[in-house]
Amino acid sequence: MRLPDHKEERIRTNEEVEQIYLDQNYSNEVYSGKKYFIKTYGCQMNVHDSEEISYRLETLGFEKVEELEDADLVILNTCAIRENAHDKLYGFLGRCKHLKDTKKDLIICICGCMAQEERVVNEILTKYPYVDIVFGTHNIHELQDMLLNRVKGTDIEVYSYEGKVYENINYKRDSKVKAWVNIQYGCDKFCTYCIVPYTRGKQRSRKSSEILKEVECLKENGYKEVTLLGQNVNAYGKDIEGELSFAELLESVAKTGIDRVRFVTSHPWDFTSEMVDIIAKYANVMPYIHLPLQSGSSNILKLMGRKYTKEEYLKLYKEIREKVKGSSITTDIIVGFPGETEEDFNDTLDVVNECKFDSAFTFIFSPREGTPAEKMEDNVSLKEKEDRLHRLNDVINKYSLIHNEECVGKTFKVLLEGVSEKDDTKAFGYTDHMKLVNVKGGLDYIGEIVDVTITDAKSFSLDGEIKK
Ligand code: SF4
Repeated sequence: MRLPDHKEERIRTNEEVEQIYLDQNYSNEVYSGKKYFIKTYGCQMNVHDSEEISYRLETLGFEKVEELEDADLVILNTCAIRENAHDKLYGFLGRCKHLKDTKKDLIICICGCMAQEERVVNEILTKYPYVDIVFGTHNIHELQDMLLNRVKGTDIEVYSYEGKVYENINYKRDSKVKAWVNIQYGCDKFCTYCIVPYTRGKQRSRKSSEILKEVECLKENGYKEVTLLGQNVNAYGKDIEGELSFAELLESVAKTGIDRVRFVTSHPWDFTSEMVDIIAKYANVMPYIHLPLQSGSSNILKLMGRKYTKEEYLKLYKEIREKVKGSSITTDIIVGFPGETEEDFNDTLDVVNECKFDSAFTFIFSPREGTPAEKMEDNVSLKEKEDRLHRLNDVINKYSLIHNEECVGKTFKVLLEGVSEKDDTKAFGYTDHMKLVNVKGGLDYIGEIVDVTITDAKSFSLDGEIKK
């Protein structure tokens, strides 16, 4: 990656980098009482990274605000998965520029996956010179140092290499009842449409002993739920000789006795029968699985580099449904991948009709720069893509509503997380099988797992009340 001239002054030894990483307890007056605003785009990995960033900022004396206009520092934690992410970022940067025109000392900082892209860094340098700091996904730990040692112009620190996995990272967690636990970074799968292996690097697993320590600590501090987090979470451990498999790790986490264990995101190719058995065996491993399909056509799956066929996906799906009682399964689907014919799309509809997913994230294919799919002929017209998305969503929504309607009159355990955004007389939370419920009478039980009887169903949420 091209870097500005002052980069030369900042080259550090490995020992120095390690010290910066571990030295999280900065004591500092410069930013005491200053306000930061953080905007997070994209996946749970970014959400969790923002929790680390928040912790680091607060060691410098910053306080979090919810309104951009109140900020002295703006952090934009970006996502590179979708093409429109660039438009969203640059649109928001316009608002930041406007604010900076009136607030000269405002510090604007860009990080996350887009900061790993050379094109983006060059665009920032040339078109958005009012951005003060850019750092990448591999060096969040340098943020405090960059703020304390500001250099003139746009300060860019982006590593194109991953570095080692550090432990004992602190987070300012968004929730007091549920926590993300990162178990693995990066991804080795190289699905042909995906930018993640380029922005997040190759797979690096954390040591299971450290993960278990973190879970125990969260449990002691009153957390009721942990979600094991990784870009390809069930490939955990494959990069470390002698490390636990994901199924073994999941069992060890379940045995800590924490109330609820979840995990995202799994790849069907790495999903073993042993994993299915562990989910079925432990009551505190939640019966909710996000199992990205991407396409129901074996031809398209091959072009996507997904390493499984339609038949293999269906076999796994059936095994999960048979063994894990009361499970819910959600998925991701891309329509309009290069070469996708109407017949291929019908294969996707077949799988959706057979699996009757609880819900799905559906997307129109758009090429990401630097991926193999970018070089494939994008030969499905936008009109066809939109039409397929529309038809797919109709089917998905039909099954979502059916699944939700089946919940009415039944009672589920719900972890109440906070006040409902839609109705502040209600609390919201999730069932074991990850259905969002707005709960009447729940405000007094926030932070607890309670029995909730479902009274009404919509496509994307349920209404319920505390069981008397
Ligand atoms: S498994 Fe495929 S889609 Fe998921 S992060 Fe890795 S490369 Fe991307």
